[in-house]
Amino acid sequence: MYTKISARYVLGFDGKQHTLIEHGEVVFEGAVIVFVGRGYDGPVDEERDYGKSLVIPGLIDLDALADIDHLILDSWPSPEVAAGHLWSENYFANNRRDVFSPAERAKVREFALAQLALHGITTYMPIGSEIHSSWAEGLDELVDMARTSRRIGLRGYLGPAYRSGVHVTTAAGDREVHFDEARGVAGLQDAQDFLDFAADLADPLITGVLLPCRIETLSENLMRETARIARERDALVRLHCLQSPLEDGLLLRSAGRSVLELLESTGLFGTRLLIPHGVVIDARNPAAAAAGGPLDLLARHGVSIVHCPLTSFRYQKQLVSFDRFREAGVNLCLGTDSFPPDLVRGIDVGMHLTRLVEERPDAGALADYFDAATLGGATALGRPDLGRLAPGMQADITVVSLAGFADGVVEDPLRTLVLNGTARQVTDTFVAGRAVVVDGALPGLDLESLRAEGQQLFDRMRAAYSERDSRRRDPDELFPPTYPPADIVAPAGVS
Ligand SMILES: [Zn+2]
Repeated sequence: MYTKISARYVLGFDGKQHTLIEHGEVVFEGAVIVFVGRGYDGPVDEERDYGKSLVIPGLIDLDALADIDHLILDSWPSPEVAAGHLWSENYFANNRRDVFSPAERAKVREFALAQLALHGITTYMPIGSEIHSSWAEGLDELVDMARTSRRIGLRGYLGPAYRSGVHVTTAAGDREVHFDEARGVAGLQDAQDFLDFAADLADPLITGVLLPCRIETLSENLMRETARIARERDALVRLHCLQSPLEDGLLLRSAGRSVLELLESTGLFGTRLLIPHGVVIDARNPAAAAAGGPLDLLARHGVSIVHCPLTSFRYQKQLVSFDRFREAGVNLCLGTDSFPPDLVRGIDVGMHLTRLVEERPDAGALADYFDAATLGGATALGRPDLGRLAPGMQADITVVSLAGFADGVVEDPLRTLVLNGTARQVTDTFVAGRAVVVDGALPGLDLESLRAEGQQLFDRMRAAYSERDSRRRDPDELFPPTYPPADIVAPAGVS
């Protein structure tokens, strides 16, 4: 079946780069694009004109929001309450529990995946969502998530998050990682079982990958085994590291080596490795970019850095810098990590932070950022058929409206979108040719009830921080309101 879509602006791909086609058309047959340009005169079974919209390749989010929200809680703590956001020693040893039942976890995932879809993301690799679990993620949970993902129609790169250690706040108030290697080994087994499950499923929209948690929560054994399995099965590995200056100290204590030394010695550098977030490397430092330095190591080993500009920014971090990583030959792709899963806002923040750090108005070019959200993601996944609109490519397509009065004037449509807008202007998406978002909605999903359920689950998630806090503080103490609550206020001017 042939579907033809058209719009005022279409971003095609000419084999080397994205190109802008005015009054453009995209035609796909089943999952595959057969035509991009103007004046198509072949067969058409279904046709839709999106008017004053921009048609772009579906966005690729490789550190994708996978819970309801966490940043709204933990990105702004005072030093006083920050330690209370971690597990206490006592919770780790005696009181660990799953905050949610399996059915509730599935609902959390549905909420997150619906958000991703509505923000124009067509391909995603979820973040680990383990703080509310008794340890990390399990096989059943990810099997459930794959089911939800297939129902909604996104392209998912999935696997349960596993770890052998957890960050805890000790009774003395220090931050440490406490280990339970048996749990780590069991988690890795689940991860392998999920690879089998995904292979048996034989659904092109579900790919099994290895998603260990942050590097300082892995034993050396778990890193080594991850690398071995990844090579044996040609599976992608995504490993959070190079994101906190604490990592090296913790790893020197637990494994006697630094992050980069461990990536080398455990064989992880020999895998198809994705690393969020890379923010501890300062590429302005000549040693970082020199031969044998961190940038050189990342580039030589074909590592992809998953840059999450909006989230990093909100945790007071940034990549230093996007341009220098790129120039060093490191593949850059993007992630959302937290709410809002809005890569348009992410690109906006990322571009402008790059300009600030490089002190040049032409640094952090929009084209380079947009490439990261599309072509860079495809490179990281080893999928040259994603992230671009051209004949023979997958029909993963996002349609963004520029028709609203509030969008302002259109100059260059991508510049208008990124400078004036957000990903919430997405009206329609297709994944492998199947309509996923239609007129701003997800057919078959009742977003009103999903929102109400999401709010309820979030309230429980927030309340559960108290039982993990070493001082058992009230949620309102751990997350103080912007302004104090009140029942009644005195008339203005009277005190
Ligand atoms: Zn992350």
